This record gives sequence, structure tokens and C-alpha cells, in this order.
Amino acid sequence: MKTFPMFLTMAGRRVVIAGGGEQAAQKCRLILKTQAEITLLAPALDPELADLHAAGRIKWDDGAITAAHFAQTALVFIATGCPGLDAALHALAKVAGATVNVVDQPHLCDAITPSIVDRDPVVVAIGTEGTAPVLARQIKTRMEEVLEPRLGDLAALAGRLRDSAAQRLQPRQRRDLWRWVFNGPARETHARGAERDAAQMIKDAIQTGEFGETGPSPVALVGAGPGSKDLITLRGVQRLQEADIIFYDRLIDPEILELARRDAERVYVGKAPGAHSWPQEKICGLLVAAAKQGKRVVRLKCGDPGIFARGAEEADALNAAGIPYEVVPGVTAASAASAAMGGFLTERGTCDTLILTTGRSENAADTPDWVDLLQEGRRVAVYMGVGTADRIETMLLQAGLADKIDVDIVANAQLPTQKITSCKARNLLKVLRENDIQNPAILFLSHRKTATAAQPVLLQQV
Ligand code: SAH
Repeated sequence: MKTFPMFLTMAGRRVVIAGGGEQAAQKCRLILKTQAEITLLAPALDPELADLHAAGRIKWDDGAITAAHFAQTALVFIATGCPGLDAALHALAKVAGATVNVVDQPHLCDAITPSIVDRDPVVVAIGTEGTAPVLARQIKTRMEEVLEPRLGDLAALAGRLRDSAAQRLQPRQRRDLWRWVFNGPARETHARGAERDAAQMIKDAIQTGEFGETGPSPVALVGAGPGSKDLITLRGVQRLQEADIIFYDRLIDPEILELARRDAERVYVGKAPGAHSWPQEKICGLLVAAAKQGKRVVRLKCGDPGIFARGAEEADALNAAGIPYEVVPGVTAASAASAAMGGFLTERGTCDTLILTTGRSENAADTPDWVDLLQEGRRVAVYMGVGTADRIETMLLQAGLADKIDVDIVANAQLPTQKITSCKARNLLKVLRENDIQNPAILFLSHRKTATAAQPVLLQQV
């Protein structure tokens, strides 16, 4: 190791940054995370630094720089943006015996700033001694995924409860307690945002000395987004990485499953082309059985698990079996499709109401009758609509909306096979056929309001 990682105590110590531009501001942002006292040495400050100075968060000295400026410091950053000036200031700082970092000049650095994953007070510092900054960033991204955003708060909570655990529990029990806290339901509960519940669980465990297996872990109904791997949420990735078994549907890109642990079981419960789909009761039964075996279960669904995904039926089955569940939202196909067009699901003043509906229902008679709802100022996003496009076109023609409705069609939104096309309602079938549009696709039917002198848009909005 040419460099040695250390965490420096910063509270109340001086950090001097020479420079007043963007490079200096970058270092300043970093050090502002600490409780150090920051002094900028520069003839002028950029607006961000000037604001920080005006707010009293940093000190500023615009006079001539001498070695004395660098004395008694925890760290010195030289970041003027001018290599010659940087080298001269570095020499002065060394006269003062400071530990110095000179931006972009590794040979002048006593200290290198690592890539940081910040879950204060949990901090991960990654360094490659300048050999592979890209690798450092990749590792950082991985760590950002693995460490849930709220982990720092949980660590801080554990810190506050340490004394009370020490008073009540033996050392061995204490180790078991913290292992349980960071491995088990308290961390999961905390990560879900139920921070008060998690704190209560830990306090109860300290009080009673009882913790450990407390029944099945919640089954996570996770939204995978529209397909591409980078449109699943960080929480979704975490649940995948925790899962022992994953039940997944059609439309889940295999790359998303790669985010799961290598040894997790993967069970396909979707509909193979030309085959029958798995009966919903069978899927529900599998979820319940796996959870009862003590496995961490993820039910991975495309898009959002709350939109045309039969999530409620699975939740009912889990409830009936006394198994808790959690819903992890995902980017629904309508959002993904609208974004793919560079569009917006709602448009202020012209399209303020959005209706999500399905072109297909269990019984044809139950198919939602949304044509009545498609009044001016409204947009309907039709899921599973390609197969019933003829019916949709007929309904719109019969309602006299043939030329009033703008139709936008997005198939395979956010996937390499994406197709986008637009037409008026009267041409829907023709355009679908001409462009060979297949499911999965979203049909947007927009009945935009046109602003008239009598109905100014702004007034309608109010
Ligand atoms: N839960 C999902 C919807 C499942 S129903 C969600 O929130 O998105 C399946 C339908 O979703 C498909 O028939 C299609 O209408 C739509 N869909 C799913 N993925 C899609 C994609 N990548 N592009 C366009 N539509 C998609």
C-alpha cells in the first residue's frame, strides 16, 4: 500500500482551500460534510462559494498568501485551476508542514481524496492509488446499491442504544443483538421507512433479551420497471439481492434477474408464448409456501406491482396465511412510454387528467368503459390494448371522436426494440398494422383541451 486509509477527526479543525473556482468548490462541498472550519484563500470567489461565505459557512481571505496561512491545518487543498500557481502554493504549504492535496497533480499529493459512499456516520472510502479511477467509480456504484439510503440513520440509532444494550446484555448477547439488528427484520423495517417501528423493535429486544427468528420475512412484491435494467428502483435491487427465491413474470428482462444473488432460486411463473399462464391461485400458493419455509421471497413484476399486476390477489393470499408483505413500487409502462416519446403524462391546462385502463379484462363484459371518461382535457393510457384495438377504434368512432383523439403508441418502451408511432383515432388499426405493433405496448388516447379566448388555460387551471 503506497497510501494508507484513515478517518480523520475533523470537528473544529482547520481546512484551507486555495482557489475560488469550481475545483475549489468541489473540495469545499466535500469538506462541508464534516464539522471542519473551512478557509478559502482566493482573490475572488465563484457565486456558489460567495454564497457559502455570505451564509457564514466558510471563511475567506483574499490577501497575499504566505506559508502562515497553511499552518495548524488538518488538511490543505490546492485547487486554483492553474498548475503553476498550484505548485508554488504547494511549496508554501509544505514549508508550513501541512498535509496537502493538489488537484490533478498526484505527485504533489500527501493525501488523496477517495471515492466516498456517504451514509453518515457509515462512510465507505474507496481508493485505487490513482491506478483505476473508473474502477473506483464502479465499486462506488455497487456500494451505493448495496447500502440502503437510510443505513446511516440506523447506525446512528444503534450508536444511541449502545449504552442501554451494554447495561442490560452480556457481551455475547450484545454481539448477537447487533448481528440481528443489521441482518434481520429491524434493518428491513428501517430500510422500508418505518423508522419508529424499527427503533421500537430494537428497544424491545434490548429490554427483553429476546430476538432472533420472528416468523416469516415479508414477501416483497417488487416492480421491475418496463424492462431495462437501470429503470428498477434501488429498493427493488436491494430486495432482489436479499432474496432466496424470486418468482418472476414474462416481460422481465433477464438482465434484471442478474441483479439478484447468484445462488438465489429463480422461478418463472409467466406465460410462455402459446401456452396458458400460470393460474393465479398456484402462484399465490407458491409464494405462501416459500415464505413459510423461511425463505426471503421476491415476487418480481414488470412495471409497477400495483398496476394491472394482480398484486391485490397475492396480497390477500399472504394476508390470509398471516405472512407480511411489502410493495416496492416500479416505473409503470405508461410513465416509461411517455418518457420514451419525450412526452409528459399530464400537460398543464390541456390534459390535466390521466386515466389508466386496460384493453382486456377477465370477462369481456367487465372491460372498463372509459370512452365516457375521455372528455376534453383527459388522456387515457390503455394497457394490453393492442389485441382489442379494433374495439377501441370502433368505440371512439361511434362516440364521434374519430378526429378529436390523438393516439400515441409506444411498444417495448425503453427497450432496444422500442417503436413509437402516432395517429388520429380513425387510423388506429391501420397504423398498428402498418407498423407491425405487437404487445407489450401502451396506447395513449389524448383529448387535449384547446385554449380559447373564452376559456383561458390559466383560469381553468385555478
Ligand atoms: N404492472 C405493469 C403492467 C402489466 S400489464 C406496469 O405497471 O407497467 C402488461 C401490459 O403492460 C402490456 O400489455 C403493455 O400494455 C404494458 N407494458 C409493459 N411493459 C411495457 C413496455 N416496456 N412498453 C410498453 N408497454 C408495456
